[in-house]
Amino acid sequence: MKTKNLSIKIVIALVLGITVGSICNIYAHSNFVTSIDKYAFNVVGQIFLNLIFMLVVPVVFVSIVLGVVGVGDPKLLGGIGAKTLAFFLSTTAIAICIGIALALIFKPGAGHSDLLNSKDVTKYQQTLNKQNEGQDSAAKQTFDQTLINLFPKNPLQAMSEGNMLQIITFAIFIGVGIIMVGSKAQVVHRFFEQFNEVLMYIITMIMNLFAPIGTFGLVAHAFTGAGFGAIKQLGLYFVLVLAALVIHFFIVYGTAVKVLGKHSPLAFFKGFLPAITLGFSASSSNAALPVSMNCTKKMGVRPEIASFVQPLGATINMDGTAIMQGVATIFIAQISGAHLSILQLITVVVIAVVASIGTAGVPGVGLIMLAMVLNAVGLNPAAIGIILGIDRLLDMTRTSVNITGDAACALIISKAEDKKIENAQVQHAHS
Ligand code: ASP
Repeated sequence: MKTKNLSIKIVIALVLGITVGSICNIYAHSNFVTSIDKYAFNVVGQIFLNLIFMLVVPVVFVSIVLGVVGVGDPKLLGGIGAKTLAFFLSTTAIAICIGIALALIFKPGAGHSDLLNSKDVTKYQQTLNKQNEGQDSAAKQTFDQTLINLFPKNPLQAMSEGNMLQIITFAIFIGVGIIMVGSKAQVVHRFFEQFNEVLMYIITMIMNLFAPIGTFGLVAHAFTGAGFGAIKQLGLYFVLVLAALVIHFFIVYGTAVKVLGKHSPLAFFKGFLPAITLGFSASSSNAALPVSMNCTKKMGVRPEIASFVQPLGATINMDGTAIMQGVATIFIAQISGAHLSILQLITVVVIAVVASIGTAGVPGVGLIMLAMVLNAVGLNPAAIGIILGIDRLLDMTRTSVNITGDAACALIISKAEDKKIENAQVQHAHS
């Protein structure tokens, strides 16, 4: 694939999609626009999205198996896992702090207490009531259940439901099994390698053929539905979330890649562009996975590290989501006239880290998980209704940030492994 050409085409499609979608939003009431949106933008976008989603489960499963086998030693895997978690948790905490700091300084909710009486709040209360009747809403899962649910009773069911954590667990077991059985499992190992080749070919083909038109469809549809009109009243909230995302993206990831990964941040962002645009148009970390792993591998990230770190990241590492939750919590506290103490702010950081871990990499879940953070500091979760209308656009942006964090982590850990191997070779040569 000529990555550079494709990236340019996708970016053009993105800009066109935003422009055409925003214009269509102005005329959203006309039948003509509704039909184009329904039968053209949405159809093209959803077909593209389905094609990508079709690959997510097999790609995640196969790459994690190969990743584990590639690392070769379950103990080493534990070390990589620990470093990965440390990076994920610390960057997520930094992300929330940036969000909270901006919201405390610029006070997006000041003077907007009227918003609490809006219909949106009443409507969201009804949604919450319905969720409470349901047994296993994501925001309500207790810690013990979450732990038990890491282990699939039925791996095929986990795959058909797209339960990423369970798929990861199962894949790790298969990978460890292949390592332990050794030469007797050669054929199984080869099978996974060859299957991986086939999947990579299909991803490249789908991206080459459909990514520009699909991106256009997805973005045009999103912007036709949620134009900039809704943003007016919540303008400052919107701008602050965006600003925090931009700061985290460029400064935190840029510095981490440069200092910890000893890699050019510019080259990193450029190489990751196809995944960033896909994350943006699909609003889903999971959907972007096949492409994002492809991008980092092309950047020189060790395949076994990319295959292990990125699927895990797409499932539990959501810095962009955490930023939105930080800003939103302070915003809702301000419109409610509640003053949060330092202890409560620390609670927001801790719970938002947990909530973003629990957020699935699909559109809109970050907002549902926000209820958990609001509950923890005694704010009314129904207030989520206020920001619901503009969340689609923020979801797109934060998803790009979410997946970039996973890629930065993969790059940094891969470089550290390179260094370890280099050192070992030097030592070996000296002895
Ligand atoms: N859409 C986000 C993602 O997939 C999750 C969220 O914040 O809603 O990463």
